[in-house]
Amino acid sequence: MDIWSKEKRSQVMSRILSKNTGIEHRVRKILFAMRYRFRLHVKELPGKPDIVLRKYNAVIFVHGCFWHSHSKCRDGTIPKTRTVYWKAKLLKNKNRDSKHMKELRKMGWHVLRLWECEVERKPDNVVRKIKKFLKNK
Ligand SMILES: [Zn+2]
Repeated sequence: MDIWSKEKRSQVMSRILSKNTGIEHRVRKILFAMRYRFRLHVKELPGKPDIVLRKYNAVIFVHGCFWHSHSKCRDGTIPKTRTVYWKAKLLKNKNRDSKHMKELRKMGWHVLRLWECEVERKPDNVVRKIKKFLKNK
């Protein structure tokens, strides 16, 4: 049984999705300000990375805390309703993420994952992380 009406569900989903687009956009702006050149959503690579910096052999994923189960994060918790359903679904996402990142590393890519909460709450950390990540590559 579904706990949400159709409208409510689509409302919730679109909020979550647009939130994710919002954070990805912020990361793009940061990279742009740092004068890095990048491509977006490269389909040919495992997991279709959000941001690809070919020159650095590097990819960046910008992950929503809910959909990608950010551990020890208040937004990464499993909902209290339909728990079994969500557990299975979110675990699947998580496994898929690790599989893609492993594949990318095997192919020689450097992989960085940024979380929604850090982009939102600690943009300075994100800048530092990106700098460190791309240094000497
Ligand atoms: Zn988080």
